[in-house]
Amino acid sequence: MRMPDGWLARSAVAAAQIAGGAAPDDYGDIWRELKPAMLQLSHFKCWYCESPVDRNDNAVDHYRPKNRVFEALNHTGYRWLALDKSNFRLACTFCNSKRIDVEFGTAGGKADKFPLLDEARRVYQQASIDNEGPKLLDPCVIEDCELLGCQQENGKPCCATEVQLDLSRVNASIEIFHLDRDATCVRRHGIAVSLIADIMEAKNLFDISQVDETRKPGFKKVAKRIHTTISREAPYSGEMRYLLRGQRAENHPWIQQLLEA
Ligand SMILES: [Zn+2]
Repeated sequence: MRMPDGWLARSAVAAAQIAGGAAPDDYGDIWRELKPAMLQLSHFKCWYCESPVDRNDNAVDHYRPKNRVFEALNHTGYRWLALDKSNFRLACTFCNSKRIDVEFGTAGGKADKFPLLDEARRVYQQASIDNEGPKLLDPCVIEDCELLGCQQENGKPCCATEVQLDLSRVNASIEIFHLDRDATCVRRHGIAVSLIADIMEAKNLFDISQVDETRKPGFKKVAKRIHTTISREAPYSGEMRYLLRGQRAENHPWIQQLLEA
């Protein structure tokens, strides 16, 4: 990520002041300076839910909370990571702030939540966090991104594996990031419907083009559309990749090729 002039020096000074007792929130201007670059990095999508975000309607979230930790009342926050850009995630309002969807009965928003798989591993002071074992999926970890899928029939989020540990992490993330918010499921479902239609068309054209070469360009055109839908720039591309993975078949090797492209 490219940073504004002098950012590293400014953040180092602020980090030293926070270490000396200053409140992390007094330095919000510094992490907010990285918002435009973070938006560009994700092609204007929330890093957690992959919804397209308006320039104003989002925040730089601290993956490890900087002030307090909901699950550990005597924790004073991961203050030493308040200005560490590896702790920054760009989040939309629904993922970041507490919200209740009254109409559809769901609620969520990360706020200061940061559950661990094993609370005993919680790090309280500046030290390695490598073995902490976060429960929340981390959009900066590719293996975590692949754990999240969505249901073809309604766009509701689901776990991409049947491993119990993954399931508990995905369910916690769905709840805390409010990934099951109805409006988000509706958007996801709309994209899923077109994707599945494209896959069916591509499968059909692929079969035909095995005996009729002239149909190959038609197949390629649809395959390209599918590629766009699962590319990193596209909204909900993680969930769409999950749906595409579910359509793999021995006689359709092009699906695996698209997933690896
Ligand atoms: Zn979001």
